[in-house]
Amino acid sequence: MKKTVNPKEFFSNLNSYPNKQLGQNFIRDLRVIDRIIDVSELSSEDEVLEIGPGLGALTFALADKAKRVVAIEKDRKLADYLSEFFHDQMNLELINQDALKVDYSSFYNGNELKVIANLPYSVSSPLLFKLLEARQYFSTMVLMLQLEVGERISAGPGGKTYGSISVLLQTFMDITSEFRVSPESFWPKPKVDSIVLKLIPLKTPRTKVSDEKLYEKVVRAAFSSRRKMIGNSLQSILSKESAAESLELAGIDKKRRAETLTIEEFGALVDKVSIIEKDF
Ligand code: SAM
Repeated sequence: MKKTVNPKEFFSNLNSYPNKQLGQNFIRDLRVIDRIIDVSELSSEDEVLEIGPGLGALTFALADKAKRVVAIEKDRKLADYLSEFFHDQMNLELINQDALKVDYSSFYNGNELKVIANLPYSVSSPLLFKLLEARQYFSTMVLMLQLEVGERISAGPGGKTYGSISVLLQTFMDITSEFRVSPESFWPKPKVDSIVLKLIPLKTPRTKVSDEKLYEKVVRAAFSSRRKMIGNSLQSILSKESAAESLELAGIDKKRRAETLTIEEFGALVDKVSIIEKDF
């Protein structure tokens, strides 16, 4: 069986270093790859999208199990190496592009894909929002993230970690924390722990959302200044009167802070905003 390259040797042969801006921390512990594959419940019928294949450690395991793998790598050097290494892997499509700029619908052939990735931590939040937007093309996402980002995504109301990213992702997806990974499992070692999350897009959102753009706008405005009362923070997008009226109609005290509102309360609030501000 072919062996993927040791990242340290790869960079030393090129006389270069992993690119920090591209979040290049490569998995070295093969047990982590096995656990990601287990959590993904991969079968030979599955089509997979991998973001940031790096030097192919996870890609290799994915291509071995799945029917089709599409892997998007931004770094030209790594993409060139992967094309060479995987030249006879017929079920793998390698794309040398920025995953933030790719149109994910172009990979959809009628079968929802599984997104499986050790995400580049430098751009994990914008990538998560891009994946959220394209969720209709995906059945499951198994993603490795920085622990702190993973905690924010899965946090419930009432705490400091609960924010707009928690509300927006949890409204549209079921999210479970699967396992933690220590820095020792990577080369180079990241400064922080990582976590693998499983996200399953819901067929219908957890709360009533008639206008997704408006929902996002209101949630972001609510959290825009965490220390302010919600009646005040909403004034970044609504008049004082409209903010007060929407909150009252939704049965939410305007003195509360955004971090105490449940997803259902955000749904009720946005519903009232859409009635009051018809032209929003
Ligand atoms: N999958 C490999 C592994 O687990 O060993 C590498 C993971 S590393 C954390 C992230 C990878 O994403 C790097 O290979 C990096 O070059 C790539 N990357 C960073 N930003 C990207 C982007 N915007 N689009 C696609 N790939 C990106």
